[in-house]
Amino acid sequence: MADGLEAIGSRRHFQYIVVGCGGIGSGAVYWLSKRAPGEVLGLEQFELGHERGGSQDVSRIIRLTYHDDRYTKLTPATFEAWAEVERESGQQLVFKCGGLQLAERGSTDHIMEKYAVALDRNNIPYERLSSAQLKARYPQFTPPPNMVALYQKDAGLVDAALGNSTHVQLARGNGAVVIDRCPVLRIRRNPAGNVEVTTTKGTFTCRKLVVTAGAWLNDVLGSIGVHVPVTVTQEQVTYFGTPHIKDFTKDRFPIWIYHTPRNDFYALPVHGNSGTKIGIDAGGPPVTGNTRTFQPDPVRTKTTRDLLEKILPKFLGPEMFTKTCLYTMTMDRHFVVDTCTQQRFSDVIVCCGAGHAYKFASLLGKILSEMAVDGRTQYDISQFNIDRPAVTDPNFKPTFYMGLQPASSKL
Ligand SMILES: Cc1cc2nc3c(=O)[nH]c(=O)nc-3n(C[C@H](O)[C@H](O)[C@H](O)COP(=O)(O)OP(=O)(O)OC[C@H]3O[C@@H](n4cnc5c(N)ncnc54)[C@H](O)[C@@H]3O)c2cc1C
Repeated sequence: MADGLEAIGSRRHFQYIVVGCGGIGSGAVYWLSKRAPGEVLGLEQFELGHERGGSQDVSRIIRLTYHDDRYTKLTPATFEAWAEVERESGQQLVFKCGGLQLAERGSTDHIMEKYAVALDRNNIPYERLSSAQLKARYPQFTPPPNMVALYQKDAGLVDAALGNSTHVQLARGNGAVVIDRCPVLRIRRNPAGNVEVTTTKGTFTCRKLVVTAGAWLNDVLGSIGVHVPVTVTQEQVTYFGTPHIKDFTKDRFPIWIYHTPRNDFYALPVHGNSGTKIGIDAGGPPVTGNTRTFQPDPVRTKTTRDLLEKILPKFLGPEMFTKTCLYTMTMDRHFVVDTCTQQRFSDVIVCCGAGHAYKFASLLGKILSEMAVDGRTQYDISQFNIDRPAVTDPNFKPTFYMGLQPASSKL
């Protein structure tokens, strides 16, 4: 089946165009293609499946557990969105293995309480575990006595690389056209009142435009005078070749997030290759999509190794590889999902996932499709507005820390 430019001949107008076909954009193309078969064009600047953005690895954590209501009330729907993609494709994308939030009594357990409050408010069941109970349930851990845990059974991982390609393939099956190696250079309003999208492969027009350009968001939006202040960081995850593979399979070991006084660590069981996986949240330096190096930082790898030696030594093994990836964070680290109405572009819809959105990628695609087709969404995205102070106030102080932290720096 032909796709791309050759498939569309001289056609240059679509009802809907999506700029950026990474995690969220591939979701938008898929969900739009269900609502408007044959009327969707996805444009991707690199080759599909490239590793220069934020979404291309074999696993991302997915969980009901969030410390903030605006996400906790969406998390059940994100599992449903992935389930629909799984039903339609016959591919398993989500793997549940349970999830642990770990903290230290007296220093970081206040973060755990935020999770508990949000879970209670949304009627999501969970268990609290002491250090000894954690050890009894997961003997792989060697937890310090002051460690406390919150366990939620529905957490797990979503296979991101598979999710992205599945979205695109299903969308193509619904008549969507996806053109890769096709950077969008600018957007503007044309005299007929449509949105005009200029690319290196020609100019296209549409009724509604969805911009899901990750780290390059502002390069795309700049041409219509929209700017979303973001910090892009080069993050990394390390895969360790544990000899104890059987102790870290998805049926025996959960995903976990450990809030320490210095950094937040996250880790996943073996999936997609034979290694265990660990990273530090927002641990990397500021970069841009074009200046990032792909060079892993050995200090961060050592920091993860040092932690694992203390709390989970069997997770370790020789470093298989360390893979870099981009976070694109708004100043308050919350999503932006809104139209550019203030710039008189209510037909341009923008989404920024703020460095924690893969679990939501399919649901965000569904939300964007509803906004594009219906002009509104059934989901509550009222706090992801583009006119909040974190986006509009140039003096807004970032609410996140970057890099490896000195002991006293984290709230
Ligand atoms: C190391 C790491 C670990 C993470 N772990 C988790 C996790 O466990 N759970 C979780 O939920 N989230 C996690 N995240 C965050 C999550 O992966 C991202 O929030 C999400 O994948 C971002 O998706 P996106 O579609 O916005 O960006 P991207 O996937 O980067 O997609 C943007 C796309 O737009 C394209 N593009 C940009 N400009 C143009 C243009 N001008 N023309 C055409 N195309 C363009 C880009 O090439 C790119 O393909 C992690 C991120 C990293 C880096």
